[in-house]
Amino acid sequence: MVGNPKNLSDLRRIEAALRVTCARCGRTGLYDRETLLADRMTHQLPTDWESMKTGFQCECGARDSHLLPVPFADNVPELRRRRNENVLINLALQILRDAAYRSSSQAVGTVEVRLALRVLSPFVRDQNTLIEFWRSATEEPRHPWTSCTALTTGSSSGCSIGAIR
Ligand SMILES: [Zn+2]
Repeated sequence: MVGNPKNLSDLRRIEAALRVTCARCGRTGLYDRETLLADRMTHQLPTDWESMKTGFQCECGARDSHLLPVPFADNVPELRRRRNENVLINLALQILRDAAYRSSSQAVGTVEVRLALRVLSPFVRDQNTLIEFWRSATEEPRHPWTSCTALTTGSSSGCSIGAIR
């Protein structure tokens, strides 16, 4: 690869991770390419190189970064761990979204929903979110208006998947 990549996905050709350095304070972070791609696709954010430069907010508040591909970093243990966490989180969220969709017509206090909530537990700032989801999922008697949907779409009850870091 000569020069800057055009897109984050170009890093796949050299199995690269992404080193992000804050243009203001110099703080750095190493990011897994696939986790970033999945996250940006999920939130419908651009993945072109220029957009990525303003795609990170540093602790100092700056949104201007220098980006550097770090080739052949797919087996860096910390990045592998984060990638695996990301896969688990996304699977758990999919289970909860499906449960929320079904919850107005059927009971969804199932083993898989309980497992999904357990998987998310270390990543959720407000544990009440998970408790409230489980309470909604297991509430009896069920009424047509009983639903977990609000919990996965972010309602005024403060239960939002956005609380996951
Ligand atoms: Zn900074």
